[in-house]
Amino acid sequence: MEQSGERDASNTYAAAAIQAIRDNGLQIDPKTFSVWYEYHKGGNPGLRRVIDIILTNRSPVSPVAVARIYERFIANAVDYRVIHETSARMQQTLAQLVALVSEASSGASQFGSTIRRVSGQFAANEVSIGELVQCLLSEAREIGASTLRIQGELARNAELMQTMQRSLEDARREASTDPLTGLANRRCLDEALQTRAGKAMNDGLDLSLLIVDIDHFKRVNDQWGHPVGDEVLKLAASTLRASIREADLAARYGGEEFAVVLAGVAANAAGEIGERIRKSFAESQVVLRGSGQSIGTITVSVGVAAYEPGESLGQWVGRTDAALYAAKQAGRNQVALARNAVLTG
Ligand code: GH3
Ligand code: MG
Ligand code: MG
Repeated sequence: MEQSGERDASNTYAAAAIQAIRDNGLQIDPKTFSVWYEYHKGGNPGLRRVIDIILTNRSPVSPVAVARIYERFIANAVDYRVIHETSARMQQTLAQLVALVSEASSGASQFGSTIRRVSGQFAANEVSIGELVQCLLSEAREIGASTLRIQGELARNAELMQTMQRSLEDARREASTDPLTGLANRRCLDEALQTRAGKAMNDGLDLSLLIVDIDHFKRVNDQWGHPVGDEVLKLAASTLRASIREADLAARYGGEEFAVVLAGVAANAAGEIGERIRKSFAESQVVLRGSGQSIGTITVSVGVAAYEPGESLGQWVGRTDAALYAAKQAGRNQVALARNAVLTG
């Protein structure tokens, strides 16, 4: 299966990264891990070139070099996919380590046999994670310490993994969130459309898209100023969030345009949800938080299209946009359903 293939590959990158960190005498931390993970994964030619140059000179890659490489090629070019993959990997590793530690604590005399059994399992199942855990274990064994110290070592590694996990998750969240509204950003939306459309095609499930555009938003900025415009955008985001279910996705599509992806919802039901959203805007007054002054009613226009299996994402979004345009043309503060897709080939 493709997914398990991907998992195997990221296992291999993770193990290679750990090995490289040791070979270069570096401390393992989230940034260092990310740099070496990227190096082994490929796909970041600049990063690879810099590291290869250092390695060609037969010198180890120093912590200073790693920090610079991180800043230049990762922090300033966060690849959402890579982060996601890495953090998933970390989570799995963490779970295994925690299980190992708690198992070890449950009976000191059984600890040796637990190690043997668990290492055997890892070696048999997932080579690279096996390698990773073996590393930890042999390190602990080399210390020749008491069971207590071995446990301490494992717990410390588990903690490290947890820190790495958290910082990767933070970076992932940052890379997928719109800073003003806290909704998913365009990048995240594009990825969600892709995966959900694929899933809808495979599973034969309904999937709908709404594009919600604030009417005459320019006038809000012109009359009340940009900061008030920003407040209105935040309010619009929370109105949207409140109108949909947990499984649906609300994203900031552009300046004053939002997108909502509705899983398991066909065109007509999506139209009803669009209508509910339109109404909740039309029926409330926007009041400025500081002064309590009302700036009146903000309305939205909504375009709705159900995904038709076989159409491209561009076609789907295009049809939704065309429906939105129709709603604007018809006088705004309206919901319009898209025409059916014309499938060719
Ligand atoms: P329509 O009803 O046709 O959609 O008219 P409109 O005025 O809403 O649309 P138009 O595309 O003419 O203007 C959108 C405005 O949104 C212009 C732009 O300055 C403003 N805008 C985009 N992003 C932001 C933002 O982050 N903050 C604020 N305050 N304004 C923004
Ligand atoms: Mg607008
Ligand atoms: Mg617009």
